[in-house]
Amino acid sequence: MPAATDIDATHDPAVLSWVESANADDAEFPIQNLPFGRFQEPGERRWRIGVAIGDQVLDLRRAGLIRHGDMRRVLNLRPDARRALRRAIHDGLRADSASYTTWSEALVPMDRVTLGLPCRIGDYTDFYVGIHHATAVGRLFRPDNPLMPNYRWVPIGYHGRASTILPSGHDFHRPRGQIRAAPDGAPVLAESQRLDCELELGVVIGRPNALGSPIPIEQAEDHVFGLTLFNDWSARDIQSWEYQPLGPFLGKSFASTISPWMVTLEALAPFRRAFAREPGEPSPLPYLDGASNRAHGAIDIRLELRLQTAAMRAAGQPAERIGRSGFAEAAYWTVAQLVTHHTVNGCALSTGDLLGTGTLSGRDPAEAGSLLELSQGGSRPIRLANGEERHFLRDGDAISLRGGCERPGFRRIGFGDCMATVLPARG
Ligand code: CA
Repeated sequence: MPAATDIDATHDPAVLSWVESANADDAEFPIQNLPFGRFQEPGERRWRIGVAIGDQVLDLRRAGLIRHGDMRRVLNLRPDARRALRRAIHDGLRADSASYTTWSEALVPMDRVTLGLPCRIGDYTDFYVGIHHATAVGRLFRPDNPLMPNYRWVPIGYHGRASTILPSGHDFHRPRGQIRAAPDGAPVLAESQRLDCELELGVVIGRPNALGSPIPIEQAEDHVFGLTLFNDWSARDIQSWEYQPLGPFLGKSFASTISPWMVTLEALAPFRRAFAREPGEPSPLPYLDGASNRAHGAIDIRLELRLQTAAMRAAGQPAERIGRSGFAEAAYWTVAQLVTHHTVNGCALSTGDLLGTGTLSGRDPAEAGSLLELSQGGSRPIRLANGEERHFLRDGDAISLRGGCERPGFRRIGFGDCMATVLPARG
């Protein structure tokens, strides 16, 4: 049976689309990508299911590719049906396809639509797979012993709140919470002064597993629909006072931002890499180890963290890149290992559940995915090109995540935008 890692005709870099904007060299959504999302035109109340192609959205129902508007039914497709749908969309969008005559009426310009959450998100779990992030943050608190002893054995995670996951472009207010500023002082209820962002990927679960039925690692990717960008906004001052002994809570649950497009595992096939630990690292326990995970468990995705302050926006300056990293280099665990570990106790994953990877920082301190690392725990501000400085985020700051995959011999594919602006705390 074909696997999600197989390269086929839908990845052929020579294929062009009759949607001209998809053929530009810098297009994020060429015909080789075809990510899924939900959109509305002005005045509409129901979400429609679309696929991004160039600067357009293809309405799948209007194109006759599906007969419903339920994204969960798309996520729940069996792997072979999913591949067939991708193939049908690809074939109809090819420059030489006769579908042009009917499908051109199913196209909507992306700048005319509102893009929503890519699907209704059921449960949300955030992992901590970024070993350089975990080490850098751990060092701030435990200089001699930054990584906890379980880190190299257990894919660490916690259950987050799905209700506060926001679509890209949905701004949010700075949270208030219980904060203890001085180590021996009394806590107060106050606005967070240490508001941060986290550069992550989101993993969208496609097919569910039954309660009590762990997903073996060789089947794990059959349960994954695709990946998104994900910004797990974090209030470090609330977090540091509340997180022991049960983990993150209100310092995380005020907002998280997800990008509108789910880039499918099929689209990511050309960008797979062998998963290997560095010498001296322990091998994963057998249930987290497998031939296909070793052969191509990692995914090469380049990631960027960009900041645009209110002053930059007023001056017409674009967002400035403040951090960058790569998924394959940053992650200690693969997507398949996260799915398998999550279900090893019999936990049931549902269609539309979201797994966050955790902050993906590179090895180099400048490759960090959070301000906590870039400012070394808030002790040394980062300096922006316009002369402004930041320890943490100020009101009016907009953070945008970008992601893309490149490999010689293949078309570059992108993830779109994952952006939101920090609004002042509510009075
Ligand atoms: Ca996180």
